[in-house]
Amino acid sequence: MCAFLRVRWTITPLIPPQPWIACSSCGGPRPFQSSGRIRLNANGKRLDAWLIYKCLSCDKTWNRPLFERRNRGDIDAATLDALHFSEPGWVRMREFDVDDLRRRAQRIEEFADMEISKEVLERVEDRAAGMEIELRVVLPASLRLDRLLATELGLSRSRLDVLQAAGRLRIDPERKDGLRRRVRDRMRIALDDPHIMDTRP
Ligand SMILES: [Zn+2]
Repeated sequence: MCAFLRVRWTITPLIPPQPWIACSSCGGPRPFQSSGRIRLNANGKRLDAWLIYKCLSCDKTWNRPLFERRNRGDIDAATLDALHFSEPGWVRMREFDVDDLRRRAQRIEEFADMEISKEVLERVEDRAAGMEIELRVVLPASLRLDRLLATELGLSRSRLDVLQAAGRLRIDPERKDGLRRRVRDRMRIALDDPHIMDTRP
């Protein structure tokens, strides 16, 4: 039986991106991994904070700047607490901040390992078959939309292109190359092909 489904997919990347940093011990660029620890240095009212990374080959550390010479009074209490205690949730947001990492390393290695949890928000029986997918992507995920849809819906990427060209797959916010772009928080995908309903999980 056909029905229209509104679903939410929550995508959580599992492995933080790894910057490649010139390691003086190894004698060349190596991937570095976050230790999860923050180092703080207070100089009067000025505060420096770094997230400590370690070379995957030799454990040499690299201090990734988080705050530099920042006035302590300009940092809110919750952030100060997070810095003091290397609060895991706060640290995790920094570890996945790939835009900031790109400013500090020439090469970033990203990982496609994701956890995808799905929930049905609404099921409408008296409507043409189809589905609307709302994406929740709280941490930046290195995952293209076409790859996600191809894997999760069991459709080829070329089939997705055909559906989009025919207006049977719509992406909001609308972009011509939306299928080739990374998944973003609050993205919505509408599909009205009954065939897709047969292959949904
Ligand atoms: Zn090294």
